[in-house]
Amino acid sequence: MELNISNLTKTYDNGVKALDDINLNIGPGMFGLLGPNGAGKSSLMRTIATLQAPDSGSIQFGDIDVLKDKNALRRILGYLPQEFGVYPKLSAEDLLNYFANLKGIANSQDRKKIVKEVLEITNLYAFKNKSVSGYSGGMKQRFGIAQMLLNNPKLIIVDEPTAGLDPAERHRFLNVLREIGAQHTVIFSTHIVDDVRELCHELAIMNGGKVLFRGSSGEGTQLL
Ligand code: ADP
Ligand code: ADP
Repeated sequence: MELNISNLTKTYDNGVKALDDINLNIGPGMFGLLGPNGAGKSSLMRTIATLQAPDSGSIQFGDIDVLKDKNALRRILGYLPQEFGVYPKLSAEDLLNYFANLKGIANSQDRKKIVKEVLEITNLYAFKNKSVSGYSGGMKQRFGIAQMLLNNPKLIIVDEPTAGLDPAERHRFLNVLREIGAQHTVIFSTHIVDDVRELCHELAIMNGGKVLFRGSSGEGTQLL
């Protein structure tokens, strides 16, 4: 499904224009949103995720009018915010089982199956009995992905997921994301040019609340 963003604007109470007439079409696959700190990436992601309202504009995902029907969007959305989550001392497997239950997967065999699946996709199966609170930063980010995959999202938004990860952790995280991008519409925001170069076919470059470039990743990253 395609995401169509038209004439999106947002000025915060302090006068900062974080979104300045954003127009973007994003199709299936891994889409990179590249820009320095303060460019407006998080503002755009939070707006698409319906966590904050824009001043004007529209967002359409398939047949969902996102700003009018937040619940419809949230049912098919997976959103990984920038901050690491705070987790109780439960094992990854128990915690995922608990979340799956909350998400309405009532049958315990179904839960078992999907929990195993998401642990495998995120390369956390070998660590399923460890407490998530003791995971490294990269493992917590991968756990965040596992958690979002439980309800089979159609649109996935990951906001600066590699910030603060060491090179080995970053590499493992990107490998997981690559696999997911082959089957979903993923918007991946980052200020790291190599993240986009390694992972995305297409990208938008943002700065000062504006989209400065939208096109192929090869062409876009050459400009920088
Ligand atoms: P990025 O994710 O690219 O770093 P942000 O969307 O976080 O960019 O920020 C864009 C601009 O909006 C920055 O100047 C930031 O300081 C400002 N900003 C972000 N959130 C708020 C807020 N809640 N209130 C006021 N200003 C904000
Ligand atoms: P991350 O797994 O997010 O990169 P670390 O590198 O800090 O985080 O890993 C924490 C521990 O788990 C280390 O002992 C590391 O060797 C081990 N580990 C993490 N991921 C894997 C993996 N895919 N295969 C084998 N060992 C792993």
